[in-house]
Amino acid sequence: MLLDSPERALRRAVPDLAARYAPLDLAELPTPVRVLPELADTWGLSAFFVKDDAVTSAAYGGTKVRALEWLLGAARRAGRQGVVTIGPWGSHHAVATATFARKSELGCRLVLFPQPDGPEVAWARTHLPELAACHWSGWLGFPLRLLAARSRRLGATRPFPIAAGGTSPVGVLGAAEGALEVAYAIRVGTLPCPDDVIVAAGSCGTAAGLLLGFGLAGPPYPRIVAVRVTSRAVARSGRVRALARKASRLVVSAGGPKPRAFPELAWIDDLAGAGYGHATGVGREVVSMGRDLAGLDLETTYTAKALSVAHLRRLEGRSVLFWNTYAGAVTAD
Ligand SMILES: *Cc1c(COP(=O)(O)O)cnc(C)c1O
Repeated sequence: MLLDSPERALRRAVPDLAARYAPLDLAELPTPVRVLPELADTWGLSAFFVKDDAVTSAAYGGTKVRALEWLLGAARRAGRQGVVTIGPWGSHHAVATATFARKSELGCRLVLFPQPDGPEVAWARTHLPELAACHWSGWLGFPLRLLAARSRRLGATRPFPIAAGGTSPVGVLGAAEGALEVAYAIRVGTLPCPDDVIVAAGSCGTAAGLLLGFGLAGPPYPRIVAVRVTSRAVARSGRVRALARKASRLVVSAGGPKPRAFPELAWIDDLAGAGYGHATGVGREVVSMGRDLAGLDLETTYTAKALSVAHLRRLEGRSVLFWNTYAGAVTAD
């Protein structure tokens, strides 16, 4: 059942899940898989594929729209007129939420906390206020700001709260549907099953969705190689597994299938450098290599740190699919 649809397989195969959350169609799915032999050669891989979530949407690409299809749907289903969420000043999640809330005719309030300066922060300071009501908070006032932002009405209702990064069991269903796109391609024979799927782990929702989606698809399982890009307080392998299990329970409680097993999770803990938003030297090399050898647009916060695991030749001889979570659009302006 789940492998009958090239995209949005969960909501199609589990009608009660669709009825409960009323997920929206915001992205152009399925996203393509590209083959990049130049980078396979450079990194000693037997094959290198990119699942290109950069092109999920002309409005704002990247993987986060997958979670937002479910979260904004759930907000509307609950009768709310707006959403509230948090993120660092240059948060892709904040930009994505503001962009797609507007497209879904929902209000959006953002409470933003400090991160190191960079192009994303500069972009957000200029453009984010055009899209949403922004509270640029320091660390000190943050908890009170958030409390107020959650309780004050937006439109006629209290806003629907969306967690940082869009990462909650419901949000995870979006990335699980992404994994099912790849599983479908493997099933119909247009893609060989990779040994490894590399993904950046920030708030861990994407990695959890891949665990759930490939788990639901059944064998052959690729190994999920999740690379921590933020502090251990937020990104931990236990969190990835717990989120996958919780999202799985939502599917089961709506009458859907339960994975017989989850894929193996390899947790890469040593490539985050000084922490979230701090570029690493290896990451900078990966950005220029991606651009120069394959025209692949990467950034130093997530995707370059994730691909560092290949660049450092820790996956030699393996066939690898990289989950490209990033769309260059934000800084291309
Ligand atoms: C948010 C984000 C991620 C991380 O996803 P999580 O689900 O938060 O782990 C990866 N890459 C990019 C570009 C992102 O914006």
